[in-house]
Amino acid sequence: MYRTHTCGQLRLTDAGTAVTLAGWVQTVRKFGSITFVDLRDRYGITQLLFNENLNEQLDKQPLGREFVLQANGIVHERSNKNVNIPTGEIEILVSEFKILNKSAVPPFTIQDDTDGGDDLRMKYRYLDLRRNAVKRNLELRYAVNRAARNYLHEKGFIDIETPFLIKSTPEGARDFVVPSRMNPGQFYALPQSPQTFKQLLMISGYDRYYQVVKCFRDEDLRADRQPEFTQIDCEMAFVEQEDILNMFEGMIKSIFKQVKEIDYSEIVERMTWEDAMWTYGNDKPDIRFGMKIGNLKIPSTIFLNKQEVLKASPLGKGASGFPVFDNAETVLAIAVPGCADYTRKQTDELTEWVKRPQIGMQGLVFIKYNADGSVKSSVDKFFNEQQLKQITATCEGKPGDLILVLAGREEKTRKAISELRLLMGQRLGLRKDTEFKLLWVLDFPLFEYSEDDNRWVARHHPFTSPKPEQIDVMINNNPVIKDAADYLNHPYSNIKANAYDMVLNGNEIGGGSIRIFQRELQEKMFAALGMDEEEQQQKFGFLLGAFEYGAPPHGGIAFGFDRLCAILGGSESIRDFIAFPKNNSGRDVMLDAPGPIDQKQFDELQIKLDLK
Ligand code: ASP
Repeated sequence: MYRTHTCGQLRLTDAGTAVTLAGWVQTVRKFGSITFVDLRDRYGITQLLFNENLNEQLDKQPLGREFVLQANGIVHERSNKNVNIPTGEIEILVSEFKILNKSAVPPFTIQDDTDGGDDLRMKYRYLDLRRNAVKRNLELRYAVNRAARNYLHEKGFIDIETPFLIKSTPEGARDFVVPSRMNPGQFYALPQSPQTFKQLLMISGYDRYYQVVKCFRDEDLRADRQPEFTQIDCEMAFVEQEDILNMFEGMIKSIFKQVKEIDYSEIVERMTWEDAMWTYGNDKPDIRFGMKIGNLKIPSTIFLNKQEVLKASPLGKGASGFPVFDNAETVLAIAVPGCADYTRKQTDELTEWVKRPQIGMQGLVFIKYNADGSVKSSVDKFFNEQQLKQITATCEGKPGDLILVLAGREEKTRKAISELRLLMGQRLGLRKDTEFKLLWVLDFPLFEYSEDDNRWVARHHPFTSPKPEQIDVMINNNPVIKDAADYLNHPYSNIKANAYDMVLNGNEIGGGSIRIFQRELQEKMFAALGMDEEEQQQKFGFLLGAFEYGAPPHGGIAFGFDRLCAILGGSESIRDFIAFPKNNSGRDVMLDAPGPIDQKQFDELQIKLDLK
């Protein structure tokens, strides 16, 4: 027997017991004739005490960091107790020990505060995984997985696996492809999601499906993406949007409860996409704090419902005399609470921040709404006090606030102010990772305009249904965009989807839709996306065919499992929650993959490499 107990198990009540432990040597400390060793395993750390009668053996077989050690001994009360660890009241008085395996000197210390940089730890990920911090993350991941499964199982969902070697499923990313030896010149695509399979399962009658499943998307890896990632993928038949929202906010609340013992009893807020963009400049707003955007100009048609609101805007459609505002498509403001006393240096720093290429604004206008009620701005030349106060009122500025105003192109400016809002929220400590705030964002646009191809693309994916009351708009209008500059006035730009995203603390953690389930509408959708009949048949003939055999109404959702774990773990990075992640260039630096393959493999595939 290698061990009688784990290194996290023994307590003072075990004093006097003869035990055998096995684990890794974390530290060796020699004090005169006695030696202390901290022995670590997955469960904790136990102190071993070697006294002088083992010195001879220790001299012959010195212990080093990360050696695999087995020790027999008696549990003793420690004189010098360590209150920070659960085993801190005891130590093992070692009678015998055996080195089960030696270790090379590890390239970094296997401790909470390691001295290893990111790259090094990725290369030796198996050592990094020994560290407590990483281990806790993987344990959390497992807890979230189990909690989701418990909930879904209880609700009658069944886990059905779907294949990885498939044909492209369009989720808007590039496919990873796999050549087929048995079908030379032909390729499988790895699933961007199991989307079409889960829909087929609904047609097959499995009306509650789920899977915790890998998805593959060949995207440029922005800060925190992985080319393969995990989704909790779900689908239900005979449901409307409301059923899905209830079922899955239930799931997330249940995960909160099971994993974090959080009772999320509040009603999950709901917001339309239009409201989210209008008020937060973003379709995944962090609603842990306010700082809502003030809109100062009559907006473009994407904000159809907001047009009226702004008739009375301080800038209206007319000229203010300040060219930066007058020439801008949109002018947006936020009120940063309690920052009216910002110094020149601080405001300059913010100006530099919005001018960074990632944000790309030309400049930043400030209005200081002083505590005494007076206003002072960087545009005093153009606006009198009353006008400045009007601007301030649009973003609900109060005395003591610093009002930040950005002007420019609609999309860019909205994105910029949203980033600025998050930055200021962060600086003011309004984004606590111990606070969780859920939100449903609803009524997304069905289509997005692709400038590159001058056509519509599906905002979610092509299987998403339009709002029932707008099906006619889709059917009765020609999707062709005649005037690219005027695409916002095409009726398609205002069709809303039966789609929903779940947002947690400003992160999209899940998204889904009620699907199209009739062949005709699906064909119309494909056509709207520029697919002719032949292409439809070639790519999705199987699905269109299946729709003819009694497809039930259905809908679903998928949650980004890695991200959900990261947020629950209070971390920004999904990598920390994946056992073997890839780096930002999509490489596994431990395996050194991707890498070349043998000529023999090329020959078998009948592929000749001709790199450009
Ligand atoms: N397949 C979708 C996605 O991966 C989710 C869904 O519509 O259920 O985003």
